[in-house]
Amino acid sequence: MSTFKAPKGTYDLLPPGSATYLAVREAIAAPLRRSGYGYVETPGFESVELFARGVGESTDIVTKEMYTLTTKGGDELALRPEGTASVLRAALEANLHRAGNLPVKLWYSGSYYRYERPQKGRYRHFSQVGAEAVGTEDPTLDAELIVLACDAYRSLGLTGFRLLLNSLGDRTCRPVYRAALQDFLRGLDLDEDTRARIDINPLRVLDDKRESVQRQLAGAPMMRDHLCAECKAFHEEVRALLTEAGVPFEDDPRLVRGLDYYTRTTFEFVHDGLGAQSAIGGGGRYDGLSEMIGGPALPSVGWALGVDRTVLALEAEGVELELAPATELFAVPLGDEARRALFRLVTELRREGVAADLAYGGKGMKNAMKSADRSGARFALLLGDRDLAEGVAQLKDLASGEQQALPLDRVVAEVRAELR
Ligand code: AMP
Repeated sequence: MSTFKAPKGTYDLLPPGSATYLAVREAIAAPLRRSGYGYVETPGFESVELFARGVGESTDIVTKEMYTLTTKGGDELALRPEGTASVLRAALEANLHRAGNLPVKLWYSGSYYRYERPQKGRYRHFSQVGAEAVGTEDPTLDAELIVLACDAYRSLGLTGFRLLLNSLGDRTCRPVYRAALQDFLRGLDLDEDTRARIDINPLRVLDDKRESVQRQLAGAPMMRDHLCAECKAFHEEVRALLTEAGVPFEDDPRLVRGLDYYTRTTFEFVHDGLGAQSAIGGGGRYDGLSEMIGGPALPSVGWALGVDRTVLALEAEGVELELAPATELFAVPLGDEARRALFRLVTELRREGVAADLAYGGKGMKNAMKSADRSGARFALLLGDRDLAEGVAQLKDLASGEQQALPLDRVVAEVRAELR
């Protein structure tokens, strides 16, 4: 062991488990790639101000959870706590939103950082795959994104997740609702922090998980009873499209999210096998965000799915992904000349697309065969002095133990044929 450990709230991805993470990322990305979303990658850090304005000054993310730093040049930067603000910043900066190009559909995958209290499923460094459809106000996009997330989970074999859906209204109806909610909340028996929240972001109080607070919220006014006609029609259309696509959802009038930029459609995917940190993904419409960060009006919608928690959900359901074998053939040389010959063959096999590995370090037969077994390979390719003299190598099926001698110049073709 070294003197150092991974920082608190973080963990390392190591083989063989890390293969599941890659597969989850790939499974979430696959439906997006098929649906016109292009890959975007932004820096791991941005100006603090972008998140303060974009995510919201009063949110936990900005007030408590950001990793900030001042550069030697005096710039105030933050490790990114989420993806949307950066992706929108990048799209605006590159002028992707020029006329005729809307919606701009983008997807991303990467690491995010929040200084949270670590627990199972909640880390300080975590991984998300996200998608954004920028610049078009169309309920079809909201439905499309939700369907793509659902299809991603289903393609992984997950069944124990639920989709919670709500609308947070827009700049016409939300302020009216906000005022009604504030009036209601001011009449409750709440602690000082929560009372402060009533002024800054009253909707977040609805999200308070404490039993003492939830009990008092029973008669709280609900956004859905205050939606304006446009928001109502928009929301009904999203619901109808989801139903048509065979995606079940639960209306959750209490669903608000930890970021200020959401308008209208808001949703969360929760998994019941995960305990307290049950949200495996979430998102919504953010029609005002572009203007909040200095851009033109660009109504948009997006989501981010948590890779770490999706992996935990797979474990909770006991789903084993069918992963391509890391190694298909393991070569075992006995002697220096055999090592050179097998190195050549292994190189050629790899170039032909076969996942091949070799025993290194002059291992004896017994140890080398143990490595072959551990690699999970289907075949071992053995080469000793007598084989070399005869111009053959021994291809051994590691499951059945059957072995056949193959002429050296036929090995690549035969192995390929056996594996396909
Ligand atoms: P959010 O932007 O907070 O809605 O996050 C979107 C998704 O990312 C959540 O549904 C989680 O699956 C995942 N996520 C957010 N924060 C964390 C965290 N601290 N640790 C692990 N996963 C997280």
